[in-house]
Amino acid sequence: MSFIPYGKQNINQQDIDAVVSVLQSDFLTQGPVINHFENRVAEYCGAKHGVAANSATSALHLACLALGLGEGDILWTSPNTFVASANVALLCGAKVDFVDIETDSYNLSVTALEQKLLEAKSAGKLPKIVMPVHFAGQSCDMVEIAHLAKEYGFHVIEDASHAIGADYSDGKVGNCRYSDITVFSFHPVKIVTTAEGGLATTNQAELAEKMQLLRSHGVTRDVNLMNKDSEGDWYYQQIDLGLNYRMTEMQAALGLSQMDRLDQFVERRHAIAKVYLERLAELNIQLPIQKEGRRSALHLFPLQLKNEQQRRQVFDLLRQAGLGVNVHYIPVHTQPYYQNLGFQPLDFPNAENYYARAISIPLHHSMSDEDVETVIQKLQECLT
Ligand SMILES: *Cc1c(COP(=O)(O)O)cnc(C)c1O
Repeated sequence: MSFIPYGKQNINQQDIDAVVSVLQSDFLTQGPVINHFENRVAEYCGAKHGVAANSATSALHLACLALGLGEGDILWTSPNTFVASANVALLCGAKVDFVDIETDSYNLSVTALEQKLLEAKSAGKLPKIVMPVHFAGQSCDMVEIAHLAKEYGFHVIEDASHAIGADYSDGKVGNCRYSDITVFSFHPVKIVTTAEGGLATTNQAELAEKMQLLRSHGVTRDVNLMNKDSEGDWYYQQIDLGLNYRMTEMQAALGLSQMDRLDQFVERRHAIAKVYLERLAELNIQLPIQKEGRRSALHLFPLQLKNEQQRRQVFDLLRQAGLGVNVHYIPVHTQPYYQNLGFQPLDFPNAENYYARAISIPLHHSMSDEDVETVIQKLQECLT
């Protein structure tokens, strides 16, 4: 019996040809394709600038650095995310805290955010950055978050690792109308892939330039940025402390080719989700909901079972049946590393309650209709 993973890349001949043609060209890294890819994604989203990196984690790190996050600063994010969202703040020397999630969308709760901001203000501990995570591909309430950002004076980085191709209000996620920077992931389980890779969009030229500089050692060949005249064609200056977070030309070529099919990928995910929503409705489990004014990219299809015990049972049965079900996410603050920083179990009860009952079932472009049928049948067998 074949194994159906919860997420998987879809690679066609055009993708393969694009990568091979780069391999036969003059540049494997720092060539022309990276710019094309950055422009393509920025244009798709309706943002002014795109800065690619070797992972979304790197892009999130660059975003925090570009916004000046450092020692003495605080970043808030959702506990219902991959550890990277929080880790990047610690890597900058800042502190991390979390804002609990809503029980319907499983996204960071604006009500909880507002409450926490009020308390933080009187304690003099306001965050420098808030990082909403568009869980499963559905945008957070960005209008409200942007409103609070203005009122309390924090920056916003959208962790849109799940959400390339998603819509919010009258635009694409990534247009940065309600944030400083948005970051996408191109890991193979996400919507489009570059194997490893990520990209930050922004409308602020200074932020884009800063991320470009820090992505490549803090080194520049632009004489306008140097503190004296160039000494010759070989000359460069290090003007900041940076890293090597560059994406290769092969990755950019793969991403550029994949962008041709992004809308198709999201369409197919919606078609599968529609079948799931219709056929699983009778099973007495909580299905994911779509909030008004947004269209998810549907990176994940998270179910909520009755309780932890039923989740364990159903998870094991589905795995035995060859379904690559998974659980997203173990709340970040319950990880040993974060417990050692002083976070307690039960600090963010909605995220923990959600986690205890969660299963992500397979949803991706490479699934056939028969695969979808198999998932439905196995779930019916477990739950009736
Ligand atoms: C996948 C993911 C990341 C990290 O992406 P990489 O490209 O693997 O570094 C960060 N945040 C969220 C929410 C993710 O799902």
